[in-house]
This record gives sequence, structure tokens and C-alpha cells, in this order.
Amino acid sequence: MIESSCKTHAGCRSVLRIKRSAIEHNVKELFRFSGKKLIAVVKSDAYGTGVRYIAPILSELPEVDSFAVACVEEGVLLREMGIKEEILILGGVLPEELSAVKEYGLTPVVSDMEHLRVIGKEDIKFHVKYDTGMGRLGFVGEFIDDPRVVGVMSHLSTPADREFSLKQIERFRNIVERYGRSLKVHLESSAGVIYRVPYTTHVRVGLAIYGEKPLREYPIRLEPALSVVARILSVKEVPRDFPISYGRTYVTEREKRIGVIAFGYADGLMKSLSNRGYFLYRGRKLPILGNITMDMTVVDVSGTDARVGDWVTVVDEGRTFGDLAREAGTIPYELMCNLSSRVKREVI
Ligand SMILES: *Cc1c(COP(=O)(O)O)cnc(C)c1O
Repeated sequence: MIESSCKTHAGCRSVLRIKRSAIEHNVKELFRFSGKKLIAVVKSDAYGTGVRYIAPILSELPEVDSFAVACVEEGVLLREMGIKEEILILGGVLPEELSAVKEYGLTPVVSDMEHLRVIGKEDIKFHVKYDTGMGRLGFVGEFIDDPRVVGVMSHLSTPADREFSLKQIERFRNIVERYGRSLKVHLESSAGVIYRVPYTTHVRVGLAIYGEKPLREYPIRLEPALSVVARILSVKEVPRDFPISYGRTYVTEREKRIGVIAFGYADGLMKSLSNRGYFLYRGRKLPILGNITMDMTVVDVSGTDARVGDWVTVVDEGRTFGDLAREAGTIPYELMCNLSSRVKREVI
């Protein structure tokens, strides 16, 4: 049974629960499997979960070596939170960001000659990114030799494709060997970890930390760390032939009990789940009826004793973001990033 554990937010109507012990378990398993410390990727507010909650958990773990974020502003936020570890800026450094990089001691990833020009003669340590087949950021053909280089990285475009990934791994090895000195070397994301690349020194992972599987077949036993619950705002009986929600895309085929759930597309639910998805109430599926709206979704609660104020489950350990993503035709990353700030965060 779902109990309201939302004691700190008397008025809250939906909650993302973050299970600390599961995050710790996943970090330790990633370390155990790879034999390498983690560069924890916490870009985009820790994949939408809330970096304020996630970073302090990770920072306490000896298996976490450092952090990576997308942009300077995200790096500054981590420093202001008191994070002392190295913070990689995956998206490089633009001219107006240089002063913050210096002031906050951030480590840019240089993947364009223009980034090097921005850094100029400044005493700033940086990593260099090589494009070995991702087709996004990184040098192709050029070799950046500079005493300020403390790390090198590349990124796999298709970890599920073994043949292509092994080509990327081989190309990157050739580049790393040219340096002939000790550097931080990182290539593997959550999915890439399966390759156990022998010459890298760190893994650069995000999704798996939350217990979400990056591949269907994944050799690491992850523990789901995230769950989402929302409250029932109203329950009522409606007769047959009764239209439900905007556009009347669903009309009851018989008398039904319907529940209105305080979770809509503004909270991060994909509107494409209208008339297709479901929530869970004490283990039972509550099918979504009609169009999902901004703040509310109507479900069928017929045959249950669901009452106003009860909690329904959107995501839990048995129905992960990955499962919901498959139902919605997207990826767990997108669903997680769409969780809005209105969904309260709670570490358990
Ligand atoms: C987001 C990102 C990662 C982490 O990927 P996961 O699949 O979440 O582990 C690693 N490297 C780069 C360059 C990224 O942008």
C-alpha cells in the first residue's frame, strides 16, 4: 500500500522518491564490474531528478571520482553546493564563460579549436575530446598536444552495436597511446561499460546510477532508485456514453468509476500515453481514459476502493522509467528530464 510519506510538503500532490541505498548499490556495482572509478554525469539537473539531492549522495562515495555536467552554469551550481571534486564541462567553454571557469575551478572539455583559443594562455587544466564515430563533439584527425591536458575522452554512438563500438574503442586507443603519458582516459557511458575497455581509467556514467538499464541485456544487477507517486483528487461514478476529458477522445462503454490524478503533461507525463497508459493502485492497473491534460489525468478506478487523497504509482521498482518509456515510444532519459519542478523530491 502506498502511504503518504510527504511530510515535509503538506500540500504536495506528486513526489519523486530517490532511494539513497539503491544509488549507493548501483555506484558500487558499476565500480565492481568495470574496476574503474566513476565520473558521475549529473548534467541537466541530474537527468531531471534534482542535482541538489543526487550530488551530495554521490560525493560521499569513494567510488565516485568526479562529476560531469553539460555547461558552466551547471558546474557553478555544483561548486556552490560545496562539491570539491573535479567538475568536467562536457560542452566546452564559450568566450563569456571563461571567467567563471577560472573562478570556480571547472575543467572544460576541449572539442573544438575555438575552445582552445578561448582558454588562450590561461593556466586552466582541460580534457580533450576526440570524435571516433559519435559524429557530434570532438576532434577528427587533429591531435591536441598541450601540457595542460589532464584527460582525454571519446563517446560511443551505438553501444548496442558491438562491431562499430570495437572500431571506436580501437581508434581511441591509437589516440591515447600517442600521448605517452599518464592521463585520465574515459570512454564508457552506462551502456559502454559492457566493453570493459582495458586502457581507460574511468567510466563516465549517468543513467545506470539511477538503476535504469541502458540496454535490454545488461550484465550489472541494478536496483531501481526512482519512484513517482501522485494523489487522487476526485473519484466519481459516471454513466455509460459519458465523454472523458478534452476532445472527448474516450466515451465510457458502460457505467464507470473514474479517478482524477494530480499528474499531467506539465509534471512530465507524455501526452502520447493518452488512452494508452496506466497508473498503479495497490498493484492494480488503472487505465488512462481520454486525453492527458496539463495538471490532471483521468483513470478508470472501477472495482477498486480508491478514494480522494490516496496515492497512485506512476513509476516504481516494478515499473521503471524504462518501462514507461517503452510504452510511450521514447527513452528513459527523456521522461526523467521532463519531470517538472512541481514534482516534489524526497530522498528515502
Ligand atoms: C550524458 C553523457 C554520458 C552519460 O551517459 P549515460 O548513458 O547516462 O551513462 C557520458 N558521456 C557523455 C559525453 C554524455 O553526454
